[in-house]
Amino acid sequence: MYNKDDRLTVSITDTGIDGEGIGKIDGYTLFIKDAVLGDTVEAKIMKAKKNYAYARLEKVIAPSPFRVTPKCEFARSCGGCQIQALDYNAQLKFKADKVRNNLLRIGHFSEEELEAKMEPIVGMDDPYHYRGKAQFPFGTDKNGNVITGFYAGRTHNIIANTDCALGVEDNREILGIILDHMKKHNIPAYNETIGKGLIRHALIRKGFATGELMVCLVINLGKNDATKTSTLQRRSNTYGGAYEYIPEQGELIASLAKIPGMTSISVSINNEKTNVIMGTEIHTLWGQPVIHDTIHMCDTKDGFRVSDEGISYAISPLSFYQVNPKQTERLYSLALDYAGLTGKESVWDLYCGIGTISLFLAKKAKQVYGVEIIPQAIDDARENARNNGIDNASFFVGKAEEVLPEFYEKESGRTGSSVLSSSMLTPDVIVVDPPRKGCDEACLSTMLQMNPDRIVYVSCDSATLARDLRILVDGGYKLKNIRPVDMFPHSVHVETAVLLIKEV
Ligand code: SAH
Repeated sequence: MYNKDDRLTVSITDTGIDGEGIGKIDGYTLFIKDAVLGDTVEAKIMKAKKNYAYARLEKVIAPSPFRVTPKCEFARSCGGCQIQALDYNAQLKFKADKVRNNLLRIGHFSEEELEAKMEPIVGMDDPYHYRGKAQFPFGTDKNGNVITGFYAGRTHNIIANTDCALGVEDNREILGIILDHMKKHNIPAYNETIGKGLIRHALIRKGFATGELMVCLVINLGKNDATKTSTLQRRSNTYGGAYEYIPEQGELIASLAKIPGMTSISVSINNEKTNVIMGTEIHTLWGQPVIHDTIHMCDTKDGFRVSDEGISYAISPLSFYQVNPKQTERLYSLALDYAGLTGKESVWDLYCGIGTISLFLAKKAKQVYGVEIIPQAIDDARENARNNGIDNASFFVGKAEEVLPEFYEKESGRTGSSVLSSSMLTPDVIVVDPPRKGCDEACLSTMLQMNPDRIVYVSCDSATLARDLRILVDGGYKLKNIRPVDMFPHSVHVETAVLLIKEV
């Protein structure tokens, strides 16, 4: 056993689930953040237990062949990336191994079966600048200057950086304009400790297919309504007599509006002492209330070549929208392929969100039924369907584990059901895309009762995926294809698409 502050030299032989390097000395395991598989490092123990310890990387003695210089100088301290110092191909291997290991250990699938069913992970051609959305916190450094950037890992300390390697290049110019404006007019950043100051966050979104940009400044106007009204002077300026939420707002808007692609500038009012970033009250100051983007279908058999066919989305500051549209196209095209649609099928899409997968499916199926817990997302799904001229998708608000069993119980007992309810009762395909905790058992058992020909499981957590696949396979399905997709390069997350078919 070792103690706190002990310094050890160790070779890194494995990568942990959070991307940390793992090394062993005489059976004693060290977890070392920022150490890379294949490194030999000097590490200092921070927290020692009987059989293992968490240690800090002090020095790389011999770098791993997989170690690369991170593109971002803050990669180690910033909480956004975990494995930027690992070569991208090694990142992809780490993620594919993570999925395989969970399917082996938790799902109890055999090596041979996984060997036969698992397809190569889908990586990005250029794994940088892929995020179409970022939220930058504002604060003050120790010299009193306003700054913006990212939170350091597990803290709310801001690392000043307007040039994140994962975000779009436009972020830097936009943030520069906001910071300059704050400095010039002495506008205070929000201070979370005392709950005072005006500018809390800047939300920046970009539609990759359209080039449209959105800036939404999250501001704190104070709790007290009197302060609020005195802060807001109605001004009849060239921007349509809008309230002045930010001092010299017109000047700020004019600078931002000059940026090519700028489409929407708004404020979101958040007067609460909370970690929730966005406030629900949004006011458009300039341009449109939304930006647009298109998610295209890809040919998964032809290097994910992008087709002209796609679904367009209107995105407001509060809308959910996938942060990596490029890989979303690939993942959802894979799910669509797995669904094997010919135009005659009825399909359930459970955990459907704003209907990204549902609307893809609707273009190729007879009828699609989406289920989602958040009412606002269902409103967006319905509107997205309308805007794309899709009339064969219906959406239901509720928990998948309640909506599906309740519907099944009610309709399966009934004689002479309508054509609609009978196609819903015996769908050809069920697609699920649950959050990290996976599907509820009640949902899985109703899926089995409905007995579709195919089940497509899209997962963001391979541990719960493995658990749920075991239930579906024991319930009469067989694994056909498994394919991991890297939606979040430089993080430890990995998505997986799986096709199960009914055993005959
Ligand atoms: N495919 C969707 C995203 C799925 S993310 C899209 O592209 O929009 C998972 C979704 O499941 C989220 O929208 C979340 O709100 C929803 N959700 C979480 N728990 C749920 C439950 N018990 N029943 C139904 N939906 C749920």
